[in-house]
Amino acid sequence: MKPQTPRQQLIYDYLRQKQTAQSAYDILDEFRSHGFRAPSQIYRVLNKLLEYGLVHKVESLNGYIACKQQHEIGKSTVAICNNCGLVKEIPTPDFVDDFENYNGWDGFTPHELAVEVKGRCSLCN
Ligand SMILES: [Zn+2]
Ligand SMILES: [Zn+2]
Repeated sequence: MKPQTPRQQLIYDYLRQKQTAQSAYDILDEFRSHGFRAPSQIYRVLNKLLEYGLVHKVESLNGYIACKQQHEIGKSTVAICNNCGLVKEIPTPDFVDDFENYNGWDGFTPHELAVEVKGRCSLCN
């Protein structure tokens, strides 16, 4: 799936260039000159991009990154540097692919597993 509107393309391209997670407010500040006036307008675009699997929400940072790996929607893995804030999407480990087959769900039906790993990037090590 590709971005479907100019606004989706704009925000997707912006996130693709960034090495850190961007909040809706960061994106709003960047694109006020493009007619965005409220965070709700940004969230509307981000929700579409999330639905298409083109971006991920980094829950622990309350920000968004562009997807840069091949994987099923809802199975992303990101490494987050505690020092510089770099967020790097990494190839999905096998245990993420296996989680649906885990036999301990006890009736719960899992829909997505976003793995966020904190540590130090290669530059900050
Ligand atoms: Zn991804
Ligand atoms: Zn770092």
